Amino acid sequence: MTKKILFLVLLFVITAIIPSYAQIYYKKNQPQNRSQYNTQYGSRYYNQYNNQYNNQYNNQYNNQYNNQYNNQYNNQYNYNRQYNNQYQQNDSNIEMQMNYQDQMMINQMAATHPVDNRYDQFLSIISNKFNNVGRYVFTNYDSKDSRYVVMPGVFGYNAVSFHKSIVIDSLLMEVDKRLAMGMAYYGKIDTPYTRQLGQRTIQLWQQINNGTLRINTQNQYNIFDLPEIPGRLNPNQQKLAELYFEHIVAAVLAHEGSHIFLEHTKKKMLTQQKLWQQGQGNMNQIQQYMNVNFTKEKEYEADLYGLKLLKRAGYSREGMVAWFRFADILESISGTLYQANRDHPTGAERIEQVNRTWNSL
Ligand SMILES: [Zn+2]
Repeated sequence: MTKKILFLVLLFVITAIIPSYAQIYYKKNQPQNRSQYNTQYGSRYYNQYNNQYNNQYNNQYNNQYNNQYNNQYNNQYNYNRQYNNQYQQNDSNIEMQMNYQDQMMINQMAATHPVDNRYDQFLSIISNKFNNVGRYVFTNYDSKDSRYVVMPGVFGYNAVSFHKSIVIDSLLMEVDKRLAMGMAYYGKIDTPYTRQLGQRTIQLWQQINNGTLRINTQNQYNIFDLPEIPGRLNPNQQKLAELYFEHIVAAVLAHEGSHIFLEHTKKKMLTQQKLWQQGQGNMNQIQQYMNVNFTKEKEYEADLYGLKLLKRAGYSREGMVAWFRFADILESISGTLYQANRDHPTGAERIEQVNRTWNSL
């Protein structure tokens, strides 16, 4: 009798305890962390500028807003200049200045180039993959907010990273899409089609540089008239083209994001400020922030960390290799256009690093 009661008590205790323990354990280790991850990290890092933001800068108050920003920034800048010798600028001051600069530039670009939202969903897929693993590659990933925006005809075939913002030209997206289609159709990168695509890219790039390609702000994204591959892709090739496209764009985004998380713009800015404080620089030098030319060393570093991010996020190295091979094709058509912009190493040099480091990342 007592044994039976004891057994029932024990059974009650066991059934009462085990599920509640299991529940606590489950909550603690799975759903809680996961939802935290999605809501906090999933949306905070590698964000895109949202529509509200874009529209804000495309409206008629744009000039007024820009002037306001310019004045605000200039005041801040003059203040710093005046008191530079009296106090050491702290980090938050510098962050503030650089955030102003980022905002100012995005405003100015958005005033003349309509923001291209066509790739938002596609870029979100890549960003989410990065957001899930970014903390394993960059120690500051969770504390640093980075954003991207796509605009047509703003840089040519290029993506540029500033302090916290990545600006991608629609031309890069459109050309890479066709590069991927060509790769899927022909089964290789170097083909007459790729060269034809490269020639048209250079043509458009030059038109963007000399201002003859005018962007209508009424959402006219399809202004590039790029060559099409000669036939239709079969379903397998179609799938492959989509995959290649994602891998190429992921490589671009990983490289530019690495400049941000490695704080390359900030380091460059600090060096310039130091020069200027020592009387060796000038205002112009500091304002060249907009045309940041990173050193080759910084480019290799961004490639390396970009590769780490890609590998962690489940991408292959092929996207980056295709991007660099196409860069060399552009280079061979145009001379030095690609390098002149950013002082990047050649595609072949960069591919060499990819292949040398990939297995040990
Ligand atoms: Zn770079």
